Amino acid sequence: MSEDSNAAVRDVVIVGSGVAGLSAAVYAARADLEPLVLEGPEPGGQLTLTTDVENYLGFPEGVGGMELIQRGKEQAERFGAEFRHGTVEGAGLEDRPFELEFANGDAVRTRALIVATGASARWVGADGEDELMGYGVSTCATCDGAFHRGDDVLVIGGGDSAMEEALFLAKFADSVTVVHRRNELRASEVMARRARDHEKIAFRWNAELLEIHGSRDDGVTGATLVSHPDGHPTGKLEASAAPRVANEVEREAVDVGGIFYGVGHVPNTGFLENTPVELADSGHLETLEGMTTETAVPGVFGAGDVMDPDYRQAVTSAGTGSMAALDAEAWLESQFGYSGSRTLAEPTAQ
Ligand code: NAP
Repeated sequence: MSEDSNAAVRDVVIVGSGVAGLSAAVYAARADLEPLVLEGPEPGGQLTLTTDVENYLGFPEGVGGMELIQRGKEQAERFGAEFRHGTVEGAGLEDRPFELEFANGDAVRTRALIVATGASARWVGADGEDELMGYGVSTCATCDGAFHRGDDVLVIGGGDSAMEEALFLAKFADSVTVVHRRNELRASEVMARRARDHEKIAFRWNAELLEIHGSRDDGVTGATLVSHPDGHPTGKLEASAAPRVANEVEREAVDVGGIFYGVGHVPNTGFLENTPVELADSGHLETLEGMTTETAVPGVFGAGDVMDPDYRQAVTSAGTGSMAALDAEAWLESQFGYSGSRTLAEPTAQ
């Protein structure tokens, strides 16, 4: 038995401390459930990597992503939420109470579980990215942009993240080229317009990153881009593509000092594989039909980007976080006959 297994069983453990986890923590703490929030490898989640959040209700001038998260954490702590660092590596959800295991062998046990683990930046799959990630290749312009003062840099992707990265990098870099695999942006019109109107930002359409050049000592020195008039050029290079089409793919070497990925995110559900919780093909946590955060396992709830492949906004994550806490509270009430950790009773049913 692991070290913490003898410790008291928690009412609610929230895995993840981004905006969804924090919102769940505020609601669960205010319901006297004394939630434990587990902060994983990216404490505070994606908002800590953004600059200004302009579309979160109540901040007409915008608010810094980090500030919003810090305030949320203070708010949750004020009502009694407890925070602990530790990456959950496995989950025992077959038996009650649930058990969450950490890498060091520790575990925590809980009656209800809220999964708010969010999503992490996707990588492109270009040659050289494994070696050079962190050495001139980055998924976070706000973290690494200042290292590229005076450089020419690439941003890969055509969504809001890519536009945001490009606009931020334009403060430091000499030039920013957005490389997008199609000829139409996915980004919202307001973000796309800002990027298109910026004098330092150019676009390379129907193009993809094939190889990254450089070394850990020298950093990124260049890249090979491929392009095809119909878009998705790397797909056309694959063996299955007709040779004629593959021959139409153009390659070009470019000199750049940095490459930033803005190609979306993948949900953090690895620790839920081999559990009865259902995952979609995309890896997202499946919740039950209708307006609920319940999953196929009673007592396990999902909130935020980990269960939302569509909206993925800070404000919707806060919304589903609050829903998950309310759903967990109602479930505890139905199972244990209480809605706070003061009166512990045996479950009425499982
Ligand atoms: P996204 O909307 O899914 O866009 C990902 C982009 O990367 C797409 O343009 C996609 O191309 C491209 N892409 C994906 N995989 C690729 C690959 N392997 N190689 C090359 N390109 C690839 O993701 P996101 O931009 O991170 O945005 C996610 C959500 O957060 C959205 O709802 C967005 O509105 C929101 N968001 C908002 C803001 C803001 O308002 N300030 C900032 C950031 C994010 P295709 O277009 O061809 O699919």
